[in-house]
Amino acid sequence: MTSQAILPGSTLGVLGSGQLGRMFAIAARRFGYGVQVYSPEGNSPCGQVADREWCGQWDDFSRLKEFVKRVQVITLEFENVPVETLEFLQEHVPVRPGPGVLAVAQNRLREKGTLREHGLPTPEFRAIRSLPELVSGLQEFGQRGVLKTASWGYDGKGQVRLTEASDLSEVWTQFENGDAILEQEVDFEFELSVIAVRSPSGELACYEPILNHHRNHILDVSVAGSPRISLALAEHAKEVALAVMESLDVVGVLCVEMFLTRGGDLLINEIAPRPHNSGHLTIDAHVTSQFEQQVRAICGLPLGSTALRQPAAMVNLLGDLWPPKGQPRWEAVLKRHGVRLHLYGKAEARPGRKMGHLTCLAESPEIAEAAARLARDELKE
Ligand code: AMP
Repeated sequence: MTSQAILPGSTLGVLGSGQLGRMFAIAARRFGYGVQVYSPEGNSPCGQVADREWCGQWDDFSRLKEFVKRVQVITLEFENVPVETLEFLQEHVPVRPGPGVLAVAQNRLREKGTLREHGLPTPEFRAIRSLPELVSGLQEFGQRGVLKTASWGYDGKGQVRLTEASDLSEVWTQFENGDAILEQEVDFEFELSVIAVRSPSGELACYEPILNHHRNHILDVSVAGSPRISLALAEHAKEVALAVMESLDVVGVLCVEMFLTRGGDLLINEIAPRPHNSGHLTIDAHVTSQFEQQVRAICGLPLGSTALRQPAAMVNLLGDLWPPKGQPRWEAVLKRHGVRLHLYGKAEARPGRKMGHLTCLAESPEIAEAAARLARDELKE
């Protein structure tokens, strides 16, 4: 712990007010910190548990100036906060992670280009600025690609999978106003993520990789302790994640999402400079949650143990589970021991909207995954 550590009793600022901010705020409060949140939304998942919710636009510098006076350090849960906002705030208090890593993570072209410059593995990609570039790029990739908006994309938004059967001129009409990236479609065995943490003094911590299943480009199920991830693969994945932390000089929590290709290579799909959906199971399954690590890292406290206490699986609860009137059958999961329910306080359940998650703890990862899927199904019956 450095002499500049920000001690309990101080107030932490968070930019963005969704569920990641909510779970961060809960962890911060457990340590006796105050929390103030700033975002354009009101009555937000984070605002509901923070001491104060500031509603303001990202370019409302007079409001940001008032906000920053009330906090000793700033972190974020939403990576698309404009870099100018972060630079402004950084003149007053530390912003962790800082604008440098955010600028990289906010744009897929910059992200993949920077990772490559540091010798880190990514899928093949091309910047696409016109229909002819799209046609030739897809040809180079053997007619298998994923076209994505370079900025502002998440959870599969602004993403189209392309094959020789795709009508490229039609697809291009959705992209021609912005910058786009074409990635070669990766033929993967499975997807995995590593959550890493770094403190201002350079102390590093890293969780074992988590195995992820996506549905419609949105994370569906995460499993901790999966035997499909061999020891050698886990070591390699952690090395890659720690190399990202050091190359980009990250302070805070960062998730590296990767593909394991059928050829046995690890490729980075995406980095998220904040706690990640695949790490929600750390709240119940690990000694220290990813949110507590975020508190520790940004405050300059020693990092916590990343040890897994018990095999676990997490399933997301999307708005699709909600009946037109009323709520899912909570009693069905609450009476199952070993199932932990987390809800984010969102009033309106829309299809695809992340409303909460369930974590199941069990004696093996296979049982945890089966139990988590079953528990979610029971919510509907
Ligand atoms: P992203 O928003 O880039 O994280 O993509 C969401 C999901 O879409 C990923 O987790 C993968 O399941 C799939 N995906 C994205 N890019 C590719 C790719 N280049 N090849 C294969 N699948 C992909």
